[in-house]
Amino acid sequence: MCFVAKKHINSQMQLSFQALLLELKHPFRLATGMRTHTNAMLATLSWNGLTGYGEAAMPPYYGETHQTAAAFLEMAARRLQSVQQPLSPALIDALLHEIDGLAPGNHAAKAAVDIALHDLWGRQQGKPLWTIWGIDPDRMPPGSFTLGIDTPEVLREKLLEGADFPILKIKLGSDDDRGIIRTIREASDKPIYVDANQGWTGREAALDLVYWLQEHGVQLIEQPFHKNDLESAAWLTERSPLPVFADESFQRLTDLPLVASCFHGVNVKLMKCTGLSEARRAIAAARQKNMQVMIGCMTETSCAISAAAQVAPLCDFVDLDGCWLIRNNPFDLPGLQEGKLQLTTLPGLGLHVKTS
Ligand code: MG
Repeated sequence: MCFVAKKHINSQMQLSFQALLLELKHPFRLATGMRTHTNAMLATLSWNGLTGYGEAAMPPYYGETHQTAAAFLEMAARRLQSVQQPLSPALIDALLHEIDGLAPGNHAAKAAVDIALHDLWGRQQGKPLWTIWGIDPDRMPPGSFTLGIDTPEVLREKLLEGADFPILKIKLGSDDDRGIIRTIREASDKPIYVDANQGWTGREAALDLVYWLQEHGVQLIEQPFHKNDLESAAWLTERSPLPVFADESFQRLTDLPLVASCFHGVNVKLMKCTGLSEARRAIAAARQKNMQVMIGCMTETSCAISAAAQVAPLCDFVDLDGCWLIRNNPFDLPGLQEGKLQLTTLPGLGLHVKTS
């Protein structure tokens, strides 16, 4: 695949986009289903010879498709065409507010616009976003590598693929969660985050399992019960020896008041919360409520991963491995050093389009 933005010398802002099927290296099995591809839309936003990149990654359970994203991005493109001046934080905020109001939902498509606007703004400034925002790259937490629900053979293969990551994120909610953890523990003593993806039922059984998981080096639990079963989440959170995080129960900033009393923490993802602008507000708001914060991802290219990495040092836990799980990433992978994502001095998101 070749994805190279054309240089537009144009004082009008031009948003273009291209549908992609991100091919997963392994079929990805969760408690909620299996898939081999993730639909994505790559966006470019050009102004005066500079181009910013954006991305919508659309796993099927959130309902967005290439068609819905294309229809939304067409509307956004018409709005952005009237922009004839360099971007500023106030202008980006105003544009994103308007674009959010164009249609309900479309969170990933909105994130594509948000990410492209921020990348372009950083390029106009000649600085990376983390520098502009005064974020300390030394505060980057170590990253985790995700293993879906699989056979012991495939799990062992994936452990090797994730060798550069110091933490494992294990998907549970299977018929044999303890068996999966035992298989992992035969091959690795790395710390583990567990993501049940809404797959647990029964509060007492879940609590027993959490205590067992703690004995096996698990450090946190994500989305134990169905996203709407906040009562069970609150019950477990009150009793759990491990922090319990909301993922599917927490989409956007407006969900925070509801989940704050039911979970210890939230998993913030750009594709759920419409991009960097709202992610930064959500992280700050969660902090104000004394909640822990994970920054997570879908299976995404380096574009969305690099965007999330800009704010990752503001979070406690980093789960940004999506671009390592796909075969056809149009961009170079971000750097990893001692298991931590590296923030570079390149402007904007710091992306490099692959040349081969
Ligand atoms: Mg999750």
